[in-house]
Amino acid sequence: MLIVMNVAHTKEQLSGVVRHIRKMGFKAHVLPGVSSTAVGITGNPRPLDPSLFEVLPGVKQAVTVSKPYKLAGRDFKRADTVIHLKQGGLAIGSDTLVIIAGPCAVESEEQTLRIARKVKKAGAHILRGGAFKPRTSPYAFQGLGLPALKILAAARKETGLPVITEALDLESLEAVYKYSDIIQIGARNMTNSSLLREAGRLDKPVLLKRGMAATIDEWLMSAEYILAEGNSQVMLCERGIRTFTDYTRNTLDLNAVPVVQKLSHLPVLVDPSHATGLRDKVAPLSRAAAAVRAHGLMIEVHDRPDEALCDGPQSLLPAQLKELIAQLRAMGKVLGYKL
Ligand code: PEP
Ligand code: MN
Repeated sequence: MLIVMNVAHTKEQLSGVVRHIRKMGFKAHVLPGVSSTAVGITGNPRPLDPSLFEVLPGVKQAVTVSKPYKLAGRDFKRADTVIHLKQGGLAIGSDTLVIIAGPCAVESEEQTLRIARKVKKAGAHILRGGAFKPRTSPYAFQGLGLPALKILAAARKETGLPVITEALDLESLEAVYKYSDIIQIGARNMTNSSLLREAGRLDKPVLLKRGMAATIDEWLMSAEYILAEGNSQVMLCERGIRTFTDYTRNTLDLNAVPVVQKLSHLPVLVDPSHATGLRDKVAPLSRAAAAVRAHGLMIEVHDRPDEALCDGPQSLLPAQLKELIAQLRAMGKVLGYKL
């Protein structure tokens, strides 16, 4: 339910509405807008009767929200969410196409610093690198863990680039929160509600990847778990879904970008690396993602992909990233984004 206040409502009337909602045992979210103020209600297990609120002083209208998600939806918040990073002064969800680049995994300090310098030189804004890796095989490289977080912090110190890395579970979430500028929740954990809730209690941005077989509503419901705990800094990342395709790792669902941007105010990024699994497909799909106006790209880069411990075949070489960024920059002049 969304309570729309009269334009000329008083402060007392607004707090009266909030009090009324809380007395009913629900959560009230004051949503100031450019032309009108609204109060969103969450926590109600069943639809509420609008007339319960329309009789309150200062209320213009009570609107039933039909979507299963509320805080993630445009009904509750019309304006785009822009996430400002302290490190680097970046705005994600704005008119800048944000480039996240780096190795799939942090393999050593030397490897990460080397690649960090190269992606910075190529024009990337944020450094990625997995410390805790969710691998299909238990025998595959699982990431360096805590030492990798310290390596990422060293790379940030040297390059000035903010860093993003994945939290796999509650234990790694605590460590990632401490070291990383953005907390990544991966495709395999999109429905891990306890992890989502805990990330929602933190005060750092969260990048939530789409599950490999998740519908858009399911994905937005996962974002809702984070938002409902109070963390409003959520961005989404489309990374390809499972289909019957047999020539690429996944199928990049570019429809998801404009579809989600209509339904939700949250920034939407695209990961063409895990979506395609093939180095030579990453640049064309990156350009396509920019063309549908994704807010950013997350691209795996390795300068020695043959030696990479994880996802070498889909990693761009630094020179390829540089060329791609130049192309994306030229495209931005036509499409109206900055890079
Ligand atoms: C990753 O970005 O490191 C990753 C594991 O991606 P995904 O969760 O999309 O598979
Ligand atoms: Mn990877």
